[in-house]
Amino acid sequence: MKTHRCIGIFGGTFDPIHFGHLRSALEIYEQFQCEEMRFVPSRQPPHRTPFASPKHRLAMLRLSLVNTPFILDTGEMDREGPSYSIDTLRALRATYKNASLCLIIGQDAFLGLPTWHQWEKLIQLSNIIVMHRSGWIIPETGVIPGFLKEHALKPNESLQNFSSGKILNQKITGLDISGSEIRNRIQKGLSPQFLLPETVWEYIKKQKLYDYLDKNAEIQPMGKILL
Ligand code: ATP
Repeated sequence: MKTHRCIGIFGGTFDPIHFGHLRSALEIYEQFQCEEMRFVPSRQPPHRTPFASPKHRLAMLRLSLVNTPFILDTGEMDREGPSYSIDTLRALRATYKNASLCLIIGQDAFLGLPTWHQWEKLIQLSNIIVMHRSGWIIPETGVIPGFLKEHALKPNESLQNFSSGKILNQKITGLDISGSEIRNRIQKGLSPQFLLPETVWEYIKKQKLYDYLDKNAEIQPMGKILL
């Protein structure tokens, strides 16, 4: 059976990027001997408004990808309008005609797949690797379980033999970290250190993202903060 080179596509808001993203990407990169692992930050996620601007999210991603085997794919950042994964997959498929394209998403995102633009066409263009995420389980009935059953990779099959059309549930080292938790901590004046790369934390402090307040700044009696 023909073996295709594997191209991992790790999309997200990355608001901010953290070790939950980076660790799972590395495990998948190694497990499937991916030729590339592409991080694709969404400029305008269709279902939410990010807290940090595209410029800051991109800068944090750049910092975190230093000394990693990963590639920054700015395809969605360069496009105007809502960032649809289907457009990203079409663009990548035009470049990688025969590769095994693997869209990597967490269980939480996978459960929301039917709300994605042209979601049923995603599987015609790529495979999907669903990462286990703590606190999330796939129900036994419904649209998603049906979709999973129809496309599930069989135990005797290998993802590299399919350029598209297959779904694989992938166990990863569970790191219960999320962008929301990191933002909440910063807003409360707590440190998110060790949940994300140090360079990203330094950037957040410098740019005062997520309502970061410098606790070391001198507070005057009137409450004014000297920076
Ligand atoms: P938020 O809390 O702001 O919603 P998030 O941490 O879930 O953010 P996203 O940038 O939206 O991060 O996620 C990008 C992708 O990474 C999604 O497919 C998501 O399911 C997955 N992901 C995020 N955090 C983890 C984690 N800790 N472990 C595994 N997958 C994760």
